[in-house]
Order: sequence, then C-alpha cells, then structure tokens
Amino acid sequence: MFFSLPPSISLLSFLLLHPTHAYKPLSNTFLRAIPSPGADIDWRNGSLLAPLLVPRVPGTPGQATAQHHFVNYFQTELPNWSLEWQNSSSRTPVSGGAELPFANFIAKREPPWVKPGQANLLTLVAHYDSKYQPEGFIGAIDSAAPCAMLMYVARVVDAYVQRMYDEMQALDEGGTVEMDMGVQILFLDGEEAFGEEWNDEDSLYGARALAQQWSTSKNPASAKFYNYRTPLNQISLFLLLDLLGAANPSIPSYFPTTHWAYLALSNIEARMRSLDLLESSPAQSFLSDGNGTVGAHAQISDDHLPFISKGVDVLHVIPRDFPSVWHTLDDDGAHLDMSTVRDWGKIVAAFALEWLDMMEVWDEPEGTRQQKRWS
Ligand SMILES: [Zn+2]
Repeated sequence: MFFSLPPSISLLSFLLLHPTHAYKPLSNTFLRAIPSPGADIDWRNGSLLAPLLVPRVPGTPGQATAQHHFVNYFQTELPNWSLEWQNSSSRTPVSGGAELPFANFIAKREPPWVKPGQANLLTLVAHYDSKYQPEGFIGAIDSAAPCAMLMYVARVVDAYVQRMYDEMQALDEGGTVEMDMGVQILFLDGEEAFGEEWNDEDSLYGARALAQQWSTSKNPASAKFYNYRTPLNQISLFLLLDLLGAANPSIPSYFPTTHWAYLALSNIEARMRSLDLLESSPAQSFLSDGNGTVGAHAQISDDHLPFISKGVDVLHVIPRDFPSVWHTLDDDGAHLDMSTVRDWGKIVAAFALEWLDMMEVWDEPEGTRQQKRWS
C-alpha cells in the first residue's frame, strides 16, 4: 500500500453505477449461527493461518507453500469450487533483468445452471505475497490473516450456497440477476513493491495482470443478456481486505459508489456487537465512519486500483491509519490480535451470506418466528 492522490469520481458515474441490489438482512438467529473461526485461524498452529506465516516473496519457495496451501484446502474441504491460476511474469527492480512469476489464485462458486459469463460474482480479495524486504518479513496483517479470513468465509458460505443452488435447481429457477449470483475469492500475487520506492510499475503486479486479462477477454455471446461482456463485468462488488488483524482498526468508507455496501457491512458489525457475538472490545467500532466517505482525501494505493480504474465497484476494507507494525519485522503472528482476527472472519462471513441473499434458505428456529418481523 501507498498513499497517492485519488482519481476523481464524477457525479455522473456515481449516479450511473449506484446499484439497486436489495436483499433481506440476516435474522438474529442466523447471525448467531455463524460459527467462530476458532482455533483454525490461530497463528501458532491454526490450519488456515499458520501455514501462511512464512515469507511469501514471488519466485521463492514460500510463494509455492502458500499456493499449495490454497489448492489443498479447497480441493479437500470445498471440492465444489472451481480453481484457476492466472499467471504472468514481470521484471522487478531487484530481479536483475530476469522475469519473476506471478500467480493469482481464483476460487469460484457459481450456480450449476449458469453458462460461462452469466453469473454475477461477489468478489472477495486479499493479496498473498509478502514484501521482499526487510529479509524475513512475514506480513501477518499484510495479508496472511486476511487470506485466512477469506478461506474461513468460503467454508461458511459454501453450505448455504449449496442448499440455495439445490433448491433453485429443483424449482427450475435461475436466469435473473438476483438468482444467478455466485462468489469468487481472489488471492492476488505481487501486490508489494520490490524496490525501496513504491511506484506504479513496481507494485500491484498480479492485480494489474488480472484486471488487464479480465477486461480484454470476451465472454461468449450467450452471456450478453446481462451485459457481462467480459469477466471483469461479472464482478458485482470487489471487496478488498488488507492490513487487518491488529487491534482497534478504524475503517472509513472510501468510495461514494459503494458507500451503501459499507453501511451494510457496518450495520452487520453493529448488530453482531449488540448481540454479543464478537469477542473484541475496540475503543470504537471497526467500521465507525458511517456518516460520509473519505472522498477527496488522500487515497490508498492497493490491489483495487487496476479494477476501479476500469469501472469496478470497490469496497476497500483497510484501516485509514496503518497499524504500527506495518512493513516491519513485527508484522508477524505474535503481533496479531486474535479476537480481532476472528471477529473480522465472522463479520465478513455474515456480509457475504447477506449479499448472497441466504435468508432465502435460512430456517428460522421454532419460537423465534415472531421476532422475524422486528429483526
Ligand atoms: Zn504491504
């Protein structure tokens, strides 16, 4: 990440892009049923997070370790997700003229009835590479922990998605924007700069390659019904997690076009806190800047930029003030605030379930039906 001046967002694009997506909020009982990531996301030996807490510099064995971890997890625990690598290579300021490999991991869960290019995809994103220097840098908040959170979110979402797709297929439904919803998780490579000075050529290697490929490869003609001409057009929301896992984060709303989605996420956090479903006790809510967007203030350079510049709606979940361990050797497992890490997992899981309209398949337990009207 780096600070830079923002591209201006015109009022016209705001009006044109403002979505009409509507869904039912999750009920209190549904929120209560979202499990904690628990020990799986522990930094010492948790099955999701611990394998990622090694240096993960592109072109090194640590990069391969992370890649195997993702593939192994989805293949063994979430076999219905389709997996794909998007590969590119590039010189860097430190590669001595050689090309380094960059590989973006894409795990996708679509309705079984959709044709290629037909589904709209909630897109959950984090970067998995770690910084070249200082040597031994782990990058726990940056962004091993966000990757582990999204692995957990995939598992929570999967069971409900399966049920929804089964029920809709049995009823021979599908074929509308509301029904053809899927989810994809992107673990992007090469976010970090290699040189001492961050610049546009030496950063965001994976995100730039993927945005370029997805904006130029055409979907088949059958997908044109929804105007999803390219895979990029299929992204309903690009939700980017970065620098999460330290205590007391404060996340503002950065973009007017997705302020409504920020408010939905903020509302979920507030409801989960009021139901006593979160463990952390921050001085203020994680998402506490709900009254307006940062707008014209300095903006953060991150993996969303190649996508937002091509018109994708972005919800950027990153603290306005970077945690004190940022880009130091202290950004390791021991410096994570584990209750904050687990809470983020639950908040994002609830947001994804709500976005995917999973109240449709939630069975309200007996005796709570009357509350439904009030929740
Ligand atoms: Zn970083």
